[in-house]
Order: sequence, then structure tokens, then C-alpha cells
Amino acid sequence: MTHLANDPADFAAEALEGFAALHPDLVQAVPGGVIRATPPRAGHVAVVLGGGSGHHPAFAGWVGPGMGHGAVCGNIFSSPSESQVLSVARAAEAGGGVLFVPINYAGDILHFGAAREALEGDEVPARLVAVTDDIASGGPAEHHQRRGIAGSFLVVKVLAAAADSGMALDPLADLAVRVNDATRSLGVAFSGCTLPGADQALFSVPTGQMAVGLGIHGEPGLSHQELGTAQDVADLLVDGLTADRPLSTGGAVAVLVNGLGATTPDELYLVAARVQSRLVAAGARVVAPVVGSLVTSMDMAGVSVSLLDLDEETEPYWLAPAHTSSFWRAETGSSTPPVSASRSTDVDPRAASAGTDRGRQPDITAPADPRSAAAAGWAHEALGRAVSAVEAQEAELGALDAVAGDGDHGAGMVRGARAAHQAMGAGVADGAGLGTALHRAGTAWSDVAGGTSGALWGAGLRASGDSLGDDAEPTAGQVLDAVQAFLDAVQSRGGAQPGDKTMVDALVPFVEQLRHELDRGSPLREAWSAAADAASQAAQATADHAARTGRSRTHGDASIGTPDPGAVSLALIAGSTN
Ligand code: ADP
Ligand code: MG
Repeated sequence: MTHLANDPADFAAEALEGFAALHPDLVQAVPGGVIRATPPRAGHVAVVLGGGSGHHPAFAGWVGPGMGHGAVCGNIFSSPSESQVLSVARAAEAGGGVLFVPINYAGDILHFGAAREALEGDEVPARLVAVTDDIASGGPAEHHQRRGIAGSFLVVKVLAAAADSGMALDPLADLAVRVNDATRSLGVAFSGCTLPGADQALFSVPTGQMAVGLGIHGEPGLSHQELGTAQDVADLLVDGLTADRPLSTGGAVAVLVNGLGATTPDELYLVAARVQSRLVAAGARVVAPVVGSLVTSMDMAGVSVSLLDLDEETEPYWLAPAHTSSFWRAETGSSTPPVSASRSTDVDPRAASAGTDRGRQPDITAPADPRSAAAAGWAHEALGRAVSAVEAQEAELGALDAVAGDGDHGAGMVRGARAAHQAMGAGVADGAGLGTALHRAGTAWSDVAGGTSGALWGAGLRASGDSLGDDAEPTAGQVLDAVQAFLDAVQSRGGAQPGDKTMVDALVPFVEQLRHELDRGSPLREAWSAAADAASQAAQATADHAARTGRSRTHGDASIGTPDPGAVSLALIAGSTN
């Protein structure tokens, strides 16, 4: 259980606020996360990490001299939004560009990727290398599609030290690829984790068993096995890791034995001792191993082992001094702790959750055509009905997502739809036209919801707003074009094809049916209703196949028999907005 919370909805923001307030010598709060209290030297690359909250000390607790320059902190288990990423990156940047090192989850890649593009658009060079260390989530041939877990600590440590040594962005990004390729992790869970305010864990592990191949977002393990001794667990993990990537004799290896939140330090040392002796027996040279809970998953009980093959270039970076709240390494031969000057922490990190990307909003000072403004009013009412519909289905959507994903889809959709409705209402009050109001709704949705679906709904709504414009009451044909623009944006951002078991599976039949009905002369309202029925049937039909993309990909087969949550919520909204 997670026992302590105030308002569960504020849990992540309050934890971050407390963290920043307690460590003013190490970090400074900025909208969207934290940056180092001591700025990097001018011209050095800023290494920016981040992801959902609930993993402390990942990621804010890895910021400080010798480690990360900035950490973006999303909601619990939910990727931060593009504007949060941008805000932290801009604050951390010191003239040498930005290297983003998120861990590999669809939502994080979408939001970090969009922020990278926006920075490049502003002529700030930026690169992105996702950490893909979890060997349970794909075979060696799929290395770059694997999800990221605790091995990200090893990767970030090496890259941050290289950045602090003055390495330029391009070689640093090349090094990032190489270090990620040399890193792999495997973990086991003994119990699931509980979201703040929830009275049940996201999954459970039968007593006496362990789930092998844990995810850090409440995804269930890939298989169950009898839980043996601490040594048996260590052997299982070392065997799995070395089968995936054989150790090189005499090779140097960095090791992290990581606790997932509820596993005690003593238990970790039992495992770590065996891991160390197994690696040494296999001829490896274990360099400065780290044992601790550095990537947690709320209150999950579990342990993972991460290995990074070091070489002549990376070993000194692994050994370089670092000073963060969670990890400290002294200068070799010196006991002087690194000095970090304090800066004021007068920024509320929560401000970011209400952030907007003003730079890309259409200028609403140009008066909209009154018929377009009236259409914005109707659309606002329709979106209000969608909010009620997703609120009523929040638990059900979460349960669908918990089968093969992380269980947050209902909460994310409610947050996003509410924020979009509110932003649209503000637009309507300002006299905005339909295009602007929808664009604003999309920005608010992606900012506040985070997650894969947040990024895609945000991009879709913005694209449909841009397609409609503010000049007139839209015709049925223009509505069809706007829905097509929504689909195009979702596909170009997310890359999913029909049949991959995503919201695209409901969207494509929705657009096709709408087109068909309008072509044969049906009025818009009737056509929309028929299209929503088609979307709903298609969403249910996604139960028949396995997920091939997004967070559920790892557990694709487990999703057979359950419809895709994003397809179901899309159909729900389509049906409620008529
Ligand atoms: P997350 O996966 O980040 O936790 P959500 O749980 O809110 O995000 O949303 C999950 C839904 O997002 C999936 O059910 C699926 O419909 C949709 N989705 C995931 N990846 C993609 C993609 N590449 N393209 C389109 N939709 C996607
Ligand atoms: Mg999810």
C-alpha cells in the first residue's frame, strides 16, 4: 500500500515540491521539473532526463553536479507533456545544446521528441537517445524497441560525466547510443504497486511466487516462477542477462542492484553479493557497483540487476565524482564533497501542469467570424458531454489499460478532456473561433494529460482546429476534413497502422463511415451518429488481436480478449459528442 497522501491527485506535484524545497543546494524547481542548482559551464551540453513520477529518486533525485542537468517530472507513471519537457530543457540549457535521455515508453518518446523538434526550431541543437535496457521486453534483435528501466541510471551517470567534461553534443549523442547498447537489465517483482489513494495494487503476485520481467509502471511481469532464495533470484537475473549479452572475459562492468520501493536494503545486499561473486567467477571486473533503490515503482517489492559493459572511454565517466540527493561519489583520492551554490527556489513546479505552449497558439486577437465563434460554443458543449462520458467510464478504461498497460488510461482521459473543455471554454469566452478553440483544447489536453493518449489527442485536436480555421461556420465537408486531419496527425505522430490495436483502429472506421454517409447525402448529425457506431464496433473488435505498439506491446498477447482502451475511449467520445 501507499499509505501517505493528501489529495491523491496532487501527490506527484507535492512530492516534487517537497523534494525541491528540501534540497536547494542541489536542485532548483522550474515549471515541469527541476534543474541543477549549479548551472553547467557555458557551452556544455545539458543532459535532460525524466518521465512519469512514482519512481523516486528517478528522475529528479538524479539531478546535481556530475549527474543530470535537468529532470522533467510528469504525473504518476504518466509521461510529462511537451511543454514541461521544453520548459525544463530551456532552463537547463547552457549554450551547448540538449541531450534528452528518456526511458523508452511511447508517451515519453512522443513528448520528448516533440520538444526536441521545437528546440531545433528555435535553433537550440537537441538530440534524443532513449534507454532500452529491459531484456524481458523484447529479444536481442529488438533491442531498440525494448522498454527502459533501472539501467537508465548507469546510462545517465556516464553521459552526464561526459557532458561535464565538455564533450560536444554530436559525439555525446553517439556515445549515448553506444552506452545504451552496452546496458541491459532484468527484474523480478514480489508484489504489485498501489497508486496513491487506490485501495488495490495494480497487479498481484501469488505468495511464494515472483513475476519475472517486471515493468516499472505497474505492468504485470511476463511470467511467474517459484520464488527461491535470494541466491536463486540473483542467479536467475545474472543468467538471463549474460545469456542476452555474454560477458567479455576481463571486461569491466558497472553494476546496479536496484530495489523497486518496498524491498529492504539488506535484502538487496543478499542479492548483490551473489551477483558480484557470479560476475567475478565469470571473469568480469566489477567496477564501483551501486546497490540501492534508484528506480522505484511506488511501493512495489522487487529487485532488478543492470549491467553496463565499460570500456576505456566510459570507465572514467562511470567513476567520475557526482553529487545528488540519492547518489554520491567522491573524487578519487579526495574527500571534499563537490560544492554547489544555492539558488532561490521560488518557482512552483506545479505551475507546469497548467502550462501552455503559447508560442504555437494561433493569434486570437484577430476577431473570429461570429458563425465560427458560435460553432465553438456548440463544440464546447459537445466536449462537456464527452467529459461526463469519460468520467462515467474512468474506472472501466483504467481496468482495460491494466490488462496489458499501466492502468492509467481512464485517469489520463479524464484529466485531458477536462483540461481541454476548460481551455475551450476560456476560448469561447474570448470570442475565439472554432479552429482556435479546438487548437487551444488540444494544447491543454496534451499538457495536462501527458501519456501516449494525451500526446495523440492533443496533436489530433490541434490539427483539426488548424484544418477548420476561424472564418465561417464549417460545412459538413469541412468537418470531415477536420476529422481526417485528426487521424493524419495521430498516425504521423504515433506511427500506428490499422490492426496495431490502438485508437487508430476506431478512428479509421469512424472517418470512413462519416465519409460514406455524407457522400450519400445524410445530414451531418446522422452521419456522425453512424460513424460513432462504426467506431464503437471496431473498438470492441480490437479484443480479437494482440497489441503491437505503445506501452502494451510488451504484453501484447495478454491483451487478446480485451479491447484496446484508447479505441474504446475514442468511440465513447465520438458517441457522446453528437
Ligand atoms: P500510456 O500508454 O502512455 O499509459 P494511455 O494509457 O493514456 O497512455 O493510452 C493508451 C492508449 O494509447 C492505447 O490504448 C492506444 O489506443 C493508444 N496508443 C498507444 N500507442 C499509440 C500509437 N502509436 N498510435 C496511436 N495510439 C496509440
Ligand atoms: Mg496507460
